[in-house]
Amino acid sequence: MRAEYFPAIGSYVTMPGPWRHPIHWLEPDTPVFYPKVLASYGVWRDEPVPVSREHVTILGDSGGYQMITQEGADFDPVDVLRWQIRNCSRGLILDVPPYEPGAAIQLLGRADEWFQDSLERTVGNVETALPYFRRHAKNFSWWGVVQGQTISQIEQWYGRIAEVYSFDGPEEGWALSAKPSTDLLTLARYTRFAHDHGLRRLHILQISGARQVGVVLGLAALSGNVDLVTYDTATALRAAVNRVALADEGLAFGYLNEKTSEGETTVLEFLKLCPCQACEWLREDLPLTNAEYPHYLILHNHLAILAVVNRIHQAALRDPDDLLRLATGDLYGQVMREWDKEVVTG
Ligand SMILES: [Zn+2]
Repeated sequence: MRAEYFPAIGSYVTMPGPWRHPIHWLEPDTPVFYPKVLASYGVWRDEPVPVSREHVTILGDSGGYQMITQEGADFDPVDVLRWQIRNCSRGLILDVPPYEPGAAIQLLGRADEWFQDSLERTVGNVETALPYFRRHAKNFSWWGVVQGQTISQIEQWYGRIAEVYSFDGPEEGWALSAKPSTDLLTLARYTRFAHDHGLRRLHILQISGARQVGVVLGLAALSGNVDLVTYDTATALRAAVNRVALADEGLAFGYLNEKTSEGETTVLEFLKLCPCQACEWLREDLPLTNAEYPHYLILHNHLAILAVVNRIHQAALRDPDDLLRLATGDLYGQVMREWDKEVVTG
């Protein structure tokens, strides 16, 4: 089972500098080169994607999420696919997430009202884009997206989309939109659903913490059906913007905030002692300007995530039960009962 972390980026991450060290990790000739990225149509459609899929696996998000969180965003499914085929290695269908505009979290009850409408519009988007896909896709794989909160919603959504196109070609797969993606039980439900349907390639959308990665990779390893699990997070960027440093704590993250009171560790003091490449460069380049500093912090956060999730992946392959116990803590029983649930459909 392979596992791949996709950092979500905005143009801020790839600003060309000038930097005193090559801190742009998507540049192939730097020592910190990392060849995977999630780029969203909603963010990148009007400007050139700053990396080439020749060197980097670019997962093109469709912007469905922006469509419901940003007022006035309304995307054309064929234009999304056209942009993805031109720029990306993989691309997600233009799904219409079943939540209210402006709301980032799917809520039971309210979500139910939106569910049927969102599903019909998503089915329509796939039907509309499919002829373009059949005519133009080259070196590109198209991925489905599954939404829903209850198992019957998830089953219904998947069934309707898969009827239009099965997304089970050699490089194709399904993205799972477990919301809230912090909830370990929801992640267990989705991973179980993937197992029951024999889905071999999965992407988990907008995952954030080490426990969540641990649950997904642990269960996917237990399943034995899954060849590839990918997941995206904007945590490296988002934390850095808030001046938060991620600390590598083995199979978990620590989060260091800027503190002002005396005697407490400031982020900069922590970075001065960190052995990662970003912080080695930071020490050589001090003092940094306000424009420079966050870029070193983003790279530090990215490298911390990479180190931790690689360890979690190894732990999943070595002993999934052990990893699941660690990742779930007090929720171990609940998560495993969710995983073992008999699913009655029809
Ligand atoms: Zn560091």
